[in-house]
Formats: sequence, structure tokens, C-alpha cells
Amino acid sequence: MISAVLFDLDETLFDRSASVRSFVRQQFAGSGIGRFPSVTDLCNRFMELDARGSMPKIEVYGTLIEEMGGHRDELRQALFDDYEANAWRHAVPFDGMRPLLSWLRQNGRKIGIVSNGQTHIQLRSLLALNLDRMVDAYLISEEEACRKPEAEIFERAANRLDVRTSDCIFVGDSPQADMAGARAAGMKTIWFPNGASWPSDYAWRPDATVASLWEVQAVVKRWEHS
Ligand SMILES: [Mg+2]
Repeated sequence: MISAVLFDLDETLFDRSASVRSFVRQQFAGSGIGRFPSVTDLCNRFMELDARGSMPKIEVYGTLIEEMGGHRDELRQALFDDYEANAWRHAVPFDGMRPLLSWLRQNGRKIGIVSNGQTHIQLRSLLALNLDRMVDAYLISEEEACRKPEAEIFERAANRLDVRTSDCIFVGDSPQADMAGARAAGMKTIWFPNGASWPSDYAWRPDATVASLWEVQAVVKRWEHS
């Protein structure tokens, strides 16, 4: 039985790379790009330093400003403050997100989000995508005081939806946080890689792999009938 489908947020429902890239592009078009040959080169460097969201943004801006040829602390702080206040305005979902969530809901599946990150940042993305209206529960690691891949946060999500973890599917991009974590908690796993690669030291694979959110519906239907 499939009672609920749970999703990671960044790079799973929320196209974080495209969103950050769009924000940074307009940000530096306003402030200048120093030694970088083009805004595109600067955006590429930002994304590289950002490392899929794993680096503190204040450090990313610090390095970028040095590489632009400046050592301006006030510019670093201003760009960082602007990011915190306004990056959400550029939030875009992955193609197929809304139809998938509507279909799940119409078919009586509960929907949850489990996201690692800071509450104020994750909430802004979530609200900007209208996800608070489209899902039944969302758990953000900072306010839950536990994070993926700990089984606790997956179990808590299932509890909040009033379903068993064995009746849940988890969809995510991170092999470690999402796939290993959900699997250990007894959930079925759908991997949506988005540029992530599968670790060579993992001797197992996700239950399904999709190239887009459009493919998730077929997987759910297949499992429901098996
Ligand atoms: Mg993710």
C-alpha cells in the first residue's frame, strides 16, 4: 500500500540551481562583475563555490568578491543580506511539480516534505512555490533539531501524516541524505539525481530512478498495482 509520498525540497521539488543562478545573475548585473569575463562566468563560479548549497553563502560571496578583484567587506555583507532577503523571489519549481502533487492528492495520497536546512531560508522557498498549500506536512531540520539521513526525521514525518514508514515513498536527489536515510527508515526510494552521482561504495540502488518529476506518477502506479 502506498499511503504517502514524501519529497526532499532543494533540487527535488525546488529547482534550486536555476533559482539561485537567476537571482545571482540579476544581483551582479547591478553591482558589476570585476575581473570576470561575463556574468555567466561569474554565475558559474558562484554555483561551483556554493557546492549544491553546502557552503555558507557569506563565504561564497567573500571568495567571489576577492576573485572579482576587490576586498570590500561592506559589499560582501550587502550582497549576502540581499540574498537572504530576496533570493526567494526567483524560486522556480521543477517541471511537472504541480501536476504531480495535484494527482497525488486527487488519488488520496498524503504528501510531505523533509528538508535539511535553515528554517527561514527553506520556508521562503516553500512558500514562494505555494507548497504550504499543496502538501500535508513539512519538516525542516533546523526546527526539528534532527536531520536527514537520521531515521528519526523520516519517522517523524510519517507520524505527522499518520502513516507507516513502510507505506511511504521518498523522492530525493541526495544518495546519502535522502536515499540512504529513507531506505533505513523502511521507505521505498525514488532517486531524481539532478546532477548528483551515485556513490561507488554503495552496494545497493534506489528502488527507482527518474529523469524528471513527470516520471514519478508512472512509478507510483506501477508499485500500487504490484
Ligand atoms: Mg536535495
